[in-house]
Parts: sequence; C-alpha cells; structure tokens
Amino acid sequence: MGLQIDILNKFLKDNNITLNSTQIEKLFQFEEKVIETNEKFNLTNITTEPDFTIKHIIDSLVGIPHIPEGAKLLDIGTGAGFPSMPIAISRPDLKIEAIDSTEKKIGFVNQSAKELGVSNIKAISIRAEEMPKDNKYDCVVARAVAALPILLELAMPIINVGGLFIAYKATEDELKDSANALKVLNSKVEKTVSLTLPNGDNRCLIIIKKLGETPNKYPRNYSQIKKKPL
Ligand code: SAH
Repeated sequence: MGLQIDILNKFLKDNNITLNSTQIEKLFQFEEKVIETNEKFNLTNITTEPDFTIKHIIDSLVGIPHIPEGAKLLDIGTGAGFPSMPIAISRPDLKIEAIDSTEKKIGFVNQSAKELGVSNIKAISIRAEEMPKDNKYDCVVARAVAALPILLELAMPIINVGGLFIAYKATEDELKDSANALKVLNSKVEKTVSLTLPNGDNRCLIIIKKLGETPNKYPRNYSQIKKKPL
C-alpha cells in the first residue's frame, strides 16, 4: 500500500500538471489519513484496494486542467474529500468549499486540511439544495453523488453566469436524460472529456456551462428533485 508514486508522476507529466515535492507529499499524507480513518470510522465506501492512488487521488486530479485560474470552487457531496482535497493540494490558486450532508465527513475534511496545512479548502455540513443562492461559484465539481439531471438542479443555481459545472462520470450516457434539465436551467454542454485511468477504468468529465440566470424556483426540495427529476 502507499502512494503509487511512479504512476502518479507519469500521470502528472502526461497531463502537464506540475506539482512540487511538498504537494506530492501532501497527497500521500492525505491518502494515508483516509485509509487510516476509514478503518476506524467507516468514513466512505472507499476500500483500501491497491490502486487507491489511481481511483481516488489521480481520478480527482483529472478535472484540474479544466478549472479556471483563481476560481472560487465548490465540491458537492465531497464525502472524505474527493475530488476537492487533491485539487486543493494541487491548485493553491483556487478558493475551495466542500459540502456534504454528513457532519462526520466534513469534520474529517477540515481536520485533514488543518493537519496537512492545506489552507485553501473549507468544508461545510449542508445539503446542496439548501445552499444560499446569493453566494455563487465560478466552478462546481461533483463525483459519485447523483444522476446528472439531479446534479444539474443542485449545481446550476449556485454557479455564476458563464461559470462551469464539472461532473465526474464514467461515460457521457447520462447526457441522454439531461436535455430538459439543461434547457430549463439555462445551460449547455461545453464539452465532454473521456479518458482512461492508469488502471483501465473509464472516466468522463461532463463539463456544463451556465448561459444565463437560473429560474428562481430551482432547486426544488430534495424529495421533489428525486421523485420528478427535470
Ligand atoms: N464525492 C465523494 C463521495 C461520494 S459519496 C467521492 O467521490 O468519494 C456521495 C456523498 O454525497 C455522500 O457523502 C453524501 O452524504 C453526499 N450527498 C448526497 N446528496 C447530497 C446533497 N444533496 N447535498 C450534500 N451532500 C450530498
């Protein structure tokens, strides 16, 4: 176990991401913390499989080239801090907030950030659909949280016009069910980026751009969102 350093370095090089040794060390320390804490508290579904570095650290970093410089970024349903903690470690220019409905997970993210000296991330225990709408982000990310039409309803109301939502999905399949949500929420597909992780897993980033204001009635309450997705 431990950070698969050679694989990480190759990934960074192939993707033109430059990290210094302190940043790489912090990624490693964060990985250790997640594994260690998970054994005690069952923090996430994440198991301690041998390719943890690929599935969680590298996978989190695949969004990095698509996040604008200096962006104010939100991670919806961060769990133990994915993808936002590896992003925060790698992109000190970003100002990051990470939310999750589960308090225990938020405590872990904030504690880790403090212990690792990662000062550009703050985790908050709140449901996405309860976020104040006067506080908007340049970019929102989410991995493994909900189906795309649901995510769009949660994310688009709290993004600045012109800003981006990056959904971490395995394929672009869910776009098929998202045409209405995109239209109603005044947004469009900017692009999709399909890639294969070093272990062969498929990853597809679905990148959505907010074109205009979101009608005020969104997001609806969660039971409606789930029962009748847009
Ligand atoms: N993004 C992390 C965790 C995925 S598990 C990862 O990729 O490893 C999904 C997480 O989303 C859970 O921690 C759950 O508590 C959170 N979640 C689900 N719906 C949410 C909502 N509406 N608002 C905030 N958090 C939510």
